[in-house]
Amino acid sequence: MSIIIKSEREIAIMRQAGRIVATVLNILSQRLRPGMKTKELDVIAAGEVEKLGAKPSFKGYRGFPANLCVSVNDEIVHGIPGERILRQGDIVSLDLGALFMGFQGDAAVTVGVGEIDLKARELMEATEGALKAGIAAAHPGARLGDISAAIQNYAELRGYSVVREYTGHGIGREMHEEPQIPNFGPPGTGPVLEKGMALALEPMVNAGDWRTRVGDNHWTVLTADGSLSAHFEHTIAITDGGAEVLTSREGVYAEEGGY
Ligand code: MG
Repeated sequence: MSIIIKSEREIAIMRQAGRIVATVLNILSQRLRPGMKTKELDVIAAGEVEKLGAKPSFKGYRGFPANLCVSVNDEIVHGIPGERILRQGDIVSLDLGALFMGFQGDAAVTVGVGEIDLKARELMEATEGALKAGIAAAHPGARLGDISAAIQNYAELRGYSVVREYTGHGIGREMHEEPQIPNFGPPGTGPVLEKGMALALEPMVNAGDWRTRVGDNHWTVLTADGSLSAHFEHTIAITDGGAEVLTSREGVYAEEGGY
């Protein structure tokens, strides 16, 4: 396994790619409304990414037909935006990649449509918490398995399950580089983390069982038992002191009435 080490200059470009992804995810989160078609989010995503001087990465990737993945309720990842109308109480996972000056940024967020119930909110909070636990475990000298174990433990202690068949990944010039980063597994295993590694951590957490199925469009991944699922992702870089979140949405963009 070879994990590509990025230079300071390359990480600086990835920081800009990450900021573009974060900005557009914030815009999408704020524009999302009951009654909206999911394809409207795709149009906004493409326009805003291009306005910021980047290119949406997902369109055409292995034949994916859209700029943004939109996965609703029991859909886990790789949902294709289209005619589906969002309803009050839905939870929507938005996953976006952008290519800027030859480098990729990749992040995902799950947001509620209007008022959502407590069960959905708790699942979303646990998934974001699992991502934060994974980031906290990522520092030079730690092992890759420490990240996986931290994510799994955080989610399972709260009564949820983590998806097994889809993983986080290394990222850089390519959206998917080595290594694969499972959201489960024993600590103290796998490669040792070093400064300059860039990783996309992305727990997919189900309210019910971890098993999945692929929908009729051959893309959308759903929970096998129909339970709700949430997905949070950040692109991070391993630094001297720990991990820098390159796709942090905090303080990145503010529309009136939001953030
Ligand atoms: Mg990813």
